[in-house]
Amino acid sequence: MTNKISSSKPETNIKFIGAHVSAAGGVDQAPMRAREIGANAFALFTKNQRQWAAKPLEAKTISAFKANCKMLGFAAEHILPHDSYLINLGAPEEEKLEKSRAAFIDEMERCNQLGLTLLNFHPGSHLKKISESECLAKIAESINLAHQAVPDVIAVIENTSGQGSNLGWKFEHLAEIIDQVEDKSRVGVCLDTCHTFTAGYDLRTKAACDHTFTEFDRIVGMHYLRAMHINDSKAEFASRVDRHHSLGKGKIGWDCFEYIASDSRFNGIPLILETIDSTIWKEEIQQLRMFHRSATLAIEEA
Ligand SMILES: [Zn+2]
Ligand SMILES: [Zn+2]
Repeated sequence: MTNKISSSKPETNIKFIGAHVSAAGGVDQAPMRAREIGANAFALFTKNQRQWAAKPLEAKTISAFKANCKMLGFAAEHILPHDSYLINLGAPEEEKLEKSRAAFIDEMERCNQLGLTLLNFHPGSHLKKISESECLAKIAESINLAHQAVPDVIAVIENTSGQGSNLGWKFEHLAEIIDQVEDKSRVGVCLDTCHTFTAGYDLRTKAACDHTFTEFDRIVGMHYLRAMHINDSKAEFASRVDRHHSLGKGKIGWDCFEYIASDSRFNGIPLILETIDSTIWKEEIQQLRMFHRSATLAIEEA
């Protein structure tokens, strides 16, 4: 058992902002799509997210991906691959759990082959067949098994809206999983603003954001925050419904996104848009960068 504490993130005043871009035509195409929208971070699927099986990545795709990332200046810690939606690492039934664990290890292996160090995933669902604690323990064990199978890649748990029997909507769920992960240096969290809000943590004002991130720090720890999904919400506060919206057009509003863009605790990690209108991603990224610049200038003038 390694039981290392989470390695500290490098100090930087740079915001890494991007979107979940398409990998149609091959993962090596994703960096160019990120570049087109002015991103310096991006997310992608390394296989079809709605299928279990995927053919292995070809050597020429791997080398093209690495070359494109290098050419366009994307570093591994600012690229956030997302796993398949079919995987349930807390599945109550043994057969489904085995299948999920094998698929998750394959996802982690693909990341490793691509030289990537983060893998973003939804924790899992108890399907009303086992208790929350039993499900969270299965998820932690799944992470431990993946760590043993594949080196270097960090398992980045995404918080959820808590739809159906999905766990990970309470900060306590995230903490309970992390507690049972042996190698703490290879586990982290991705907070999705839409999920956070619809799970019942308010983000509508700067004071509400202060309160929510203080709670996150107290229960989980800000040092575990490895990424964020930046989404507004079509669904109401605490509705436990997951429906993304474009920034400023949903129930959360711009204050939250200005807060994140202005606060240095969110520097250095990928901030990824999964908003519904990809034709305005470029403008959304520009707006976030403007907030960041104004905040930086205000600090320099003070
Ligand atoms: Zn998300
Ligand atoms: Zn979502």
